[in-house]
Amino acid sequence: MKIIFRLDDIQGFYLNKTQIEIIDAFLKHSSGPCPINLGLIGYNFIDDSWLSNEVIKRTKEYSEFIEIACHTWSHKPLIMLSKEEQIDDIKEFKNKIQPLFKQEIITLIAPENYFNEDTYEAMFKNDLSILSSVFTVELPFQKFDLGNYPISIPANILGSHYPNPEFRSPEILLDEILQLKSENAEQEIITVVLHPSDFFNGNQIEISRIKDLSNLIQSCKDNNLELTKFSDFKGIT
Ligand SMILES: [Zn+2]
Repeated sequence: MKIIFRLDDIQGFYLNKTQIEIIDAFLKHSSGPCPINLGLIGYNFIDDSWLSNEVIKRTKEYSEFIEIACHTWSHKPLIMLSKEEQIDDIKEFKNKIQPLFKQEIITLIAPENYFNEDTYEAMFKNDLSILSSVFTVELPFQKFDLGNYPISIPANILGSHYPNPEFRSPEILLDEILQLKSENAEQEIITVVLHPSDFFNGNQIEISRIKDLSNLIQSCKDNNLELTKFSDFKGIT
C-alpha cells in the first residue's frame, strides 16, 4: 500500500516560511527526500516572489519528489461556480502556473473538497486527469475509474480537524493510517491532507509539529507504506 501527503493552500503572502518548512520536512527528511504533493492556489502565487522562487527552486532540485497540483486559480469552491466559470478558473491556473514548472500539472485538488459533474468537464478541457477530494459520495465512480472519467483518489486522513488548525499527534494519525490499511487491504493509496495552518501557532512556526510530521513520515516508512505522488497513478489499469 502507498501513501500520499497532500499539502493544500500553497499561496502567496500567507505563512510562506511555514509552507517551505513543511515542504522541507519531506525533501530534507533524515531518511532521504520523500515525495510531497503541493496544492497551489494560483491568483497570488506569482506575486509572492520569495515563495514562488523557493517552490520553483525545489521543483528543479528535487524534481522527482514534488508534484504541483492545481488547487484552482481563485480557490472558490467549484460547486459555487457555473460550468463555464469552473472551466475558466482552471484554465487561468493552467495558463499562468503551468509555464513556471517543467512537469505537466495533471491533478486537481478541489477547494474545500467540493466538486460536481461539471468539474469533470472542466478537468477534461484543461487536461487534468486526477481528482483528489475528501468526498466521494457525489461521484459516479468511487476509486479508479478509467475511460472518460478522471481517476479519483480519495483523501482519507486529515492532519488537523477543522476548525482546530493544529497538526494532530503523529501517534493518533499513524493509528488511523494503520487501521485504514488493515481494513482496506485492496485499497492502493491512503491520502493525508495537510494545511500550512496546521504548523503555525498564531505567532510563528510550531517547530515541534514539524518534528511530529517528520516522525510520522518515518513511521509510515517503518510500516511499509511507500510515499508516492498522484501523478504516479496516471494511466493506472
Ligand atoms: Zn484550499
